[in-house]
Amino acid sequence: MKWRDLYCGAVRIADVGRTVAVAGWVARRRDHGGLIFIDLRDHTGLIQLVVNPERSADAAQAAHAIRSEFVVRAQGEVVNRAPDAVNPNIATGEVELQVDELEVLARSEPLPFQLDDDGVEEPLRLRYRYLDLRRDRMQRNLRLSATVIAAIRRSMEERGFIDVWTPTMTLGTPEGARDFLVPVRLQPGNFFALAQSPQLFKQVFMIGGLDRYYQIATCWRDEDLRADRQFEFRQLDLELAFPTREEVLDVLELIVVASFEALGRTPPPRPFPRLGYAEVMLRYGSDKPDVRFGLEIQDATEVTRTSDFGVFANAECVRFLVVPTAFSRAQLQRLEELAKGWGAKGLAYVVVGESGELRSPIAKFLSAQELAAFAAPPGSTVLFAADKPAMVERVLGALRTELAQELGLIDHSRNEFLWILDFPLFLKDEDTGNWMFVHHPFTNPLEGHEDLIDTDPGAALSQHYDLVWNGWELGSGSIRIHRQEIQERVFRAMGMTDEEAQAKFGWFLEALQMGAPPHGGFALGIERFVALLAGEANIREIIAFPKTASGLDPLTGAPAPTTQERLSELGIRLQTPPG
Ligand code: ASP
Repeated sequence: MKWRDLYCGAVRIADVGRTVAVAGWVARRRDHGGLIFIDLRDHTGLIQLVVNPERSADAAQAAHAIRSEFVVRAQGEVVNRAPDAVNPNIATGEVELQVDELEVLARSEPLPFQLDDDGVEEPLRLRYRYLDLRRDRMQRNLRLSATVIAAIRRSMEERGFIDVWTPTMTLGTPEGARDFLVPVRLQPGNFFALAQSPQLFKQVFMIGGLDRYYQIATCWRDEDLRADRQFEFRQLDLELAFPTREEVLDVLELIVVASFEALGRTPPPRPFPRLGYAEVMLRYGSDKPDVRFGLEIQDATEVTRTSDFGVFANAECVRFLVVPTAFSRAQLQRLEELAKGWGAKGLAYVVVGESGELRSPIAKFLSAQELAAFAAPPGSTVLFAADKPAMVERVLGALRTELAQELGLIDHSRNEFLWILDFPLFLKDEDTGNWMFVHHPFTNPLEGHEDLIDTDPGAALSQHYDLVWNGWELGSGSIRIHRQEIQERVFRAMGMTDEEAQAKFGWFLEALQMGAPPHGGFALGIERFVALLAGEANIREIIAFPKTASGLDPLTGAPAPTTQERLSELGIRLQTPPG
């Protein structure tokens, strides 16, 4: 027996008169005392079944026992609906199935939540993910994801990239997160790290002459989970031999375009704008700026050097934002609390009232020249941050996005893709005082900046580039170091001794000495990209089985304790033994 002839959502006027079988889940059952109507659902949509005891007494009997989410097969004749029963909102709304045979294939317990309830809490949705997956939102998101990934693969194959698998269990790969460790029974006391990315393997592919590699690679990073972060996620990981930076950016832009086109959308215009790191940090206080709104940060360090307001005069850096609202005292207090939460000592302000009058505890200290530099239209507020540049950037950058959201300044119809270029090679780690890589330690300095690695690491710029979409970092890449001697200097600048570098990366330094071509690549975060394409603010909405914010899988109950036997085999003793 064939389970079904047509998908539920595929039955049309052209099928009227045919006898067909459909199968799916019961979305709704309405008993009209005599006639029973059942909406039967599969991934394509709904078809209305009509069970008439006069047509089939057996079917009517079966229909009485049917409840929501039972799995049912129905066979019958496709007929036109009566004109007043036509439902223009669904694709099958002009027809219905007059049922001859009705069979319950699987029953369902009463559900923990109704599938048409949009307010279900996330833990419950994840606990019963199989029910959640039946809903339109997850069906749509997972299918959209598959469409995009297929387009990406096509695009890569067309450009001569080959898909090569790399190991999950490896040595630590420094991407700035903690590794997940995997104990090894055959070598107690030794651990694999789950790859934070295939970074070094893909570089080795270039040394191995593969020329163009890609992979939809799963990466593992032990970090706090957020709306755009999971322990495990996928990257479109790619690497090219002998590339210019522009060639790498071009590949990525074409992938974005192919993805938009696969979804039938108008792609963003190419080339995407390119902005320097220093410029975006100044104007937006962020290396992943959302440029769908203005609210740009302005610098006032020069003009405040001789200020009578000591906080300004003494600060390393003074910058401000002009917000198109004259805030009340209470609102300003709240903003100051927010700013303090981000690390600011305070939040100086000048409110320009509707008729141009100034409200500000600091205005009396400001010279005419300063006031002219901060001039703002009536009905606005100038908000200042005065501190070290990094703090000023952090506070004003965060205020900028917060206020844009609160004041509804974001134009959600816009899609703004941006390249951020010319990142610094290192930033100082405030805790250790060490120079820390900004991207990863395999990133090449800008041509001509090689000597700065030793003489002035903080001034060296790198060939690292980030792709940003509407304020989300979609991915990063770089032209890599392909000369062993430069690689060693970068390790040294990071405070590694040569012995440490050998112990950790000796195998790779060796590979760099045996004919490493110039190479570079990129990794695009698939979940972030797909979430934005799906219009979702959280990547959990496009992942079939995500972990909750606290790192649990409510469906399976993972992670879970293990037994003393397993631990002994692995040579592990817990500080708190399993209970
Ligand atoms: N491995 C890098 C990352 O995961 C990407 C790259 O440099 O290609 O961010």
